[in-house]
Amino acid sequence: MIELVSHERCITCQACVTACPENVFDKVPHRPPVIARPDDCQTCFLCELYCPVDALYVSPFAERHVAVDEAELIAKGLLGGFRRAMGWEGGHPAGTDRDLTYRMFEDGRVAP
Ligand code: SF4
Ligand code: SF4
Repeated sequence: MIELVSHERCITCQACVTACPENVFDKVPHRPPVIARPDDCQTCFLCELYCPVDALYVSPFAERHVAVDEAELIAKGLLGGFRRAMGWEGGHPAGTDRDLTYRMFEDGRVAP
């Protein structure tokens, strides 16, 4: 479940608000989003993947909340850990430009 929005790291881009399929976050003008409906979180990690500055932490425990300490998460390299493990860079999947399926759309062989 989503457990943390780092106010130190967040640049208020709202990418996580848009990416979340469960509407867990509420936008706050010029401030980091609020985890408004944490129990609706499906532990899909999309918000972590799209955050450009690794400001979010989603715990792998889907059924219960766990207490987290931001400094400890940073020390353990866990902020952004899932994104790095998946090979996403800067909010985009790495290597998309080399993906052959994607190139088919560019060539017009398959309607996007
Ligand atoms: S893990 Fe998925 S459902 Fe949970 S807050 Fe992030 S995007 Fe939303
Ligand atoms: S995606 Fe990251 S930087 Fe952007 S609003 Fe969400 S937590 Fe902040």
